[in-house]
Amino acid sequence: MTDLATEARAPASGIPFDNSYARLPERFYVRMPPTPVSAPALVRVNRALAAELGLDADALASPAGVEILAGNRVPEGAEPLAQAYAGHQFGGWVPQLGDGRAILLGEVVGRDGVRRDIQLKGSGRTPFSRGGDGRAALGPVLREYIVSEGMHRLGIPTTRALAAVTTGEKVYRETALPGAVLTRVARSHIRVGTFQFLFARKDLDGIRALADHAIARHYPAAATAGRPYLALLEAVIAAQAALVARWLGVGFIHGVMNTDNCSIAGETIDYGPCAFMDRYHPQTVFSSIDHGGRYAFASQPGIAQWNLVQLAQCLLPVIDDDADKALEAAQAAIDGYAARFDTELLAVFRAKLGLFEARDGDLALLQDLFDRMAANQADFTLTFRRLADLLDPPEGDAPAPRDLFVDPTSFDAWERVWRARLADEAATPDAGRAAALRAANPAVIPRNHLVEEAIRAAEDAGDPAPFEALLEALATPFEERPEHARYRLPPRPDQVVRQTFCGT
Ligand code: AMP
Ligand code: MG
Repeated sequence: MTDLATEARAPASGIPFDNSYARLPERFYVRMPPTPVSAPALVRVNRALAAELGLDADALASPAGVEILAGNRVPEGAEPLAQAYAGHQFGGWVPQLGDGRAILLGEVVGRDGVRRDIQLKGSGRTPFSRGGDGRAALGPVLREYIVSEGMHRLGIPTTRALAAVTTGEKVYRETALPGAVLTRVARSHIRVGTFQFLFARKDLDGIRALADHAIARHYPAAATAGRPYLALLEAVIAAQAALVARWLGVGFIHGVMNTDNCSIAGETIDYGPCAFMDRYHPQTVFSSIDHGGRYAFASQPGIAQWNLVQLAQCLLPVIDDDADKALEAAQAAIDGYAARFDTELLAVFRAKLGLFEARDGDLALLQDLFDRMAANQADFTLTFRRLADLLDPPEGDAPAPRDLFVDPTSFDAWERVWRARLADEAATPDAGRAAALRAANPAVIPRNHLVEEAIRAAEDAGDPAPFEALLEALATPFEERPEHARYRLPPRPDQVVRQTFCGT
């Protein structure tokens, strides 16, 4: 009986699709299948994620599953489509972007009751491809797989990687590279740029339909607010403020915070030239195409607000029939971003500094540490991770935080202020505070040289072992397992990665 009931619900593909985006107006997308490839081969299925989605990982890894993941077979229940969107790229308006190398297969409601998109990225040309080939190279696919799963394990909202396959075909960038397809999972792929696409076409009915869809999917409480579309704007502002604060908490630089890469659901999306800082400096930029440093580490909060202003523009006509009232309300929401962001940032960094209580000077204490880290080329991740050792000495031979600073006395001076600040709180056993610090400060992050090492081995030598080993180390970022010691080390001078590329 049970078996029959299960069979009745799940289509033969085993993927129980329910595609709400495909029920939106046809002008939001172009219906089309992915383009088949010559020789699909599995790189990896993410078994943990498959389980969360209620999918059969073995079926996905089987030859029939790999055909689906490569885009050679459209599974039953899928309604493949390429989504339309627009966007500001590096501040410049582009009225039509869209999925130029991705196909949304459909949506699945996971075990947690959350609806998620299943999208193939690198799946061939679409009407939105412009000059591109619609394909992805193995390197960037592995990069997105590693970094998005690393972000997830760090507890940061993000799209995820369900699978990676190679295509048996070459893609041509500066050189010929092995082609690959990533199966990306997201709470949705609705971007600020999706609203901009409709706004640019003066499609107010479309904006309402998309906003209603986003509310139902991501912010159901907004539906019953006095002004639902204002509540949607406020919810996205809150989600983006929280997201960017958490990026800063792990030294993450997105690299292409264009409005088309700004998710309405508040997830990190589009891992192109992103990177984690080793040595802290607020102006750090890795992306080879970010010449002006528009998306530098410390600029990200302001850029997120700029993107949210673009969203507010799109929603203005539907927020209130009275244009003045709409403007006033949207402006107030945008003005609230800065305070919201500061609150989120303080929450993140109070935890990272082991502060259990709030004090007025906390932001200044943090800024002072940042200034000293920047002046002393201190490693971002290790400086915070090693704070716990000052309260509860580690077992191994980890460096003292002061040894991460060119001038260790600069850290000593800050440490005195920090200890006085801790002493001002209700007494807490040092071991308890150290445990809290270790739970807030990761030891293992997807450092650039590790990502690079994994990609080089896979791409140049066909060796997937470093990729697998890195994913394994990233699965427990807050633990210091002896077997993962090398993944905690900053790069040697010859390993430092100074530039990253979009890889499109
Ligand atoms: P991205 O830089 O990945 O956010 O992409 C920006 C835009 O360029 C999106 O519309 C993509 O679909 C499109 N795009 C990026 N790479 C390719 C490619 N290889 N072929 C076709 N379109 C692409
Ligand atoms: Mg993009």
